[in-house]
Amino acid sequence: MHHPFRHISTMANYLGIAQNSPLHQIKLPAQLEFNSTIATTLHEQIQVWCKRDDLLHPIISGNKWRKLQHALATFETQSEALATQASRPRRIVSFGGAYSNHLHALAYCCNKLNIALIAVIRGQYLANETLNPTLQDMTLWGARLHFVSKTDYRRRHDPEYLQQLKSKFDADLIIPEGGSQISSLHGLAQMMQEIQEQAQELELAQLNASIFDEFFLPVASGATMAGVVKAEHATNKSIAKTITGVAVLKGEGYLEGLVQQFLPQFRPPETSDWQIEHHYSFGGYAKTSPELDAFCASVKEINHHPDAEEKSIRIEPCYSGKLFYAVNNMLEQGRFSKGSKLLLLHTGGLQGKRPPTKP
Ligand SMILES: *Cc1c(COP(=O)(O)O)cnc(C)c1O
Repeated sequence: MHHPFRHISTMANYLGIAQNSPLHQIKLPAQLEFNSTIATTLHEQIQVWCKRDDLLHPIISGNKWRKLQHALATFETQSEALATQASRPRRIVSFGGAYSNHLHALAYCCNKLNIALIAVIRGQYLANETLNPTLQDMTLWGARLHFVSKTDYRRRHDPEYLQQLKSKFDADLIIPEGGSQISSLHGLAQMMQEIQEQAQELELAQLNASIFDEFFLPVASGATMAGVVKAEHATNKSIAKTITGVAVLKGEGYLEGLVQQFLPQFRPPETSDWQIEHHYSFGGYAKTSPELDAFCASVKEINHHPDAEEKSIRIEPCYSGKLFYAVNNMLEQGRFSKGSKLLLLHTGGLQGKRPPTKP
C-alpha cells in the first residue's frame, strides 16, 4: 500500500515520532565540581541543558529524522504531483558506512512507508561474514545492501556515478550520505523552534538576550550544524550567542567547508558566530579511547534517574560521547564564566554501539 503524506507531521505521527524532544538539565562531572567549589551562589552555578533528540524515536536516530523528513515528505509530494500511480517514485538509493545511523534510520522509514531502499555501503564484506546488527536490521526491513569498494564509494557525489546507480537500480531518488543536503536544513529549523518554545515554557528566555550562552553539537557531514546556524540567523529570538561544533573526525578546514557549503547565502562575517572545535576527535571517525569509554559510563551514572527514566541519559563514543567530553573538558579548563547556560544537542545514534550478535 502506498501512503501519501501531505504534511511532515502526518508522516511523523505515522512513524511514531515524538511530538517534541525533551529539553532538560543534565549533569556533567566537571560542572558538579565547578558548582560545588567555584560558584558561591545559585546564580553563579553553570547550567547544562540538553535537547534530547535521542528520544524522538526508539529506532530512527534523532538528527537523521530531522534531516530526512523533508526528503521523504517531498518525495511523497512529488509522487502526488505525478499523473499516474504507476509512475510514482518508489525506490531510493542512499549511502553510508556499515554502522551508518543514517542508513539504519532510512531503512526503517522506507520499510514503514513501503519504499524500496538500495543501501550503497562502503567496504566489502566477505560472503561468509556475519552482518553486524545495523546491517542485520536493515536486511530485516527489506533494504537491499549493495557493497562497494572504498574507491567506488569515493564517487558518491559524482553525478555520472549517481546516474549509473539510478539506472542500475531503477531508482527515483538519491539521498546523499548522512541524509545531508540543503533541504535537510528545514528539519533543524523546526528543532530550533521547539527549543525556543520550550525555553519560553521553562521561563529561560530573557528579554533582549540569547536564551543560552553557548550551543554545542557534534559535526560530521556538517548539515546539522548548518541547519542550526541558519535557524539561529533566521530568528529574532536568539537561542545562543555562539554555536560550537565538535568535530568527531579529523578534518580541520574540511569540516568548516562542509558546513559553509550548506550555507551558500552566508558570507563571513555573518558566519563568525559559529566555529568548530577540533581537539576532541580522538584520532578519527568512530575512534575511541579507554578514557572516552569511561567518561561515557560516568555520564550515564551521574544522570541516572530510576524514577524518571526519560531523564536518564546514555551517550556513545562516536558522536555524543565526544560532544559531552569536549564540553566537560572545557569546563575543567575554566572556559565558561559563572552563571553560564550551556546547551548540548544529543543527536541520538545509540544503535551503532551495539555488541555484535553471536553467529
Ligand atoms: C550523523 C550523526 C551526526 C552528524 O551529523 P552531521 O549532520 O552529519 O554533521 C551526529 N550525531 C549522530 C548521532 C549522528 O548519527
